[in-house]
Amino acid sequence: MDRQDIIVSTKKLSKRFNTKVATEKGWKKATVAAVSDVTLDIAAGETLGLVGESGCGKTTLGRMLALFYLPSEGTMTIRGVDVSALKPKQVKPLRQHVQMIFQDPVSSLNPRHTVENILTEPMKFFSSDTAPVRRQKAADLLEAVGLSADALRKYPHEFSGGQRQRISIARALVLNPAFVVADEPVSALDVSVQSQILNLMKDIREEFNLAYLFISHDLAVVHHLADRVAVMYLGRIVEIATRDSLFEDARHPYTHSLLRFVPTVVPNKSKIGKILQGDPPSPIDPPNGCPFHPRCPHAIDICKASIPVLETVNAVARHATACHLQDEINQQSGDR
Ligand code: SF4
Repeated sequence: MDRQDIIVSTKKLSKRFNTKVATEKGWKKATVAAVSDVTLDIAAGETLGLVGESGCGKTTLGRMLALFYLPSEGTMTIRGVDVSALKPKQVKPLRQHVQMIFQDPVSSLNPRHTVENILTEPMKFFSSDTAPVRRQKAADLLEAVGLSADALRKYPHEFSGGQRQRISIARALVLNPAFVVADEPVSALDVSVQSQILNLMKDIREEFNLAYLFISHDLAVVHHLADRVAVMYLGRIVEIATRDSLFEDARHPYTHSLLRFVPTVVPNKSKIGKILQGDPPSPIDPPNGCPFHPRCPHAIDICKASIPVLETVNAVARHATACHLQDEINQQSGDR
């Protein structure tokens, strides 16, 4: 990947939230480590899939990259600008380069606004276009997402779920962004509509040379769209690779367990792991050592004492994994 094409880059990015937890003696202050030590790059025209169980930090990381939250630690650059060094006011001009598509197109579109208002409102803040120009741009975007200009005068409730998600995608494109965070964009849609929206997102990526962070709990959906895939567990990236390397040669026991749910797209069946037992630990009180050790069938003493770092296992496939035993486990999988 050419460094000049990098749109988003993070180094040891972390986000903590202060909260309170109930104890026998009343409320106690606590810290939620939602995202920890995330280092990644996303290039123009590239889709990075982000997978993991609910509550693993995917949405928080997506919202950080979409500039909703500033980092607690680490750095984050958008088109070469270091966001972590900026004050909240200074972040505003960068927002036009980064947009978000949400899971639920019903609640993400204002029901009291026409589609024309929804699409042209952001242009008023970030461009000097006249009203007729804004209207024409909105009509062109609707055409790009497969809807006619007639939709401009209608309200969101007049559309089906798939059509509303097309409008959400058009809205994300209004300011000609370089990077779009899509948080479970098809999981609220009927299965029959999902592939249409995924194909539309693919086409839009090519046409606008977009970089995507595509968040999903569904690995089959990620397999359809992503060029690379990152696996997140308890706020940390535990494995990252090109799509084919991740599905054909997963190294981390947690990834092996996730692959169990998509056997139809896993060529190397020996990499399919066991059903996960129990729930993930709380990010308020994470375990010492490897965050996966309480659920990992391979855990040994070192796993309870030291956090494994992401290490490259295949430079060509840009494949890295965070597991003390990845060589041994991979050897066992190959022997099966
Ligand atoms: Fe399992 Fe240990 Fe690897 Fe963590 S470091 S995934 S506990 S083997």
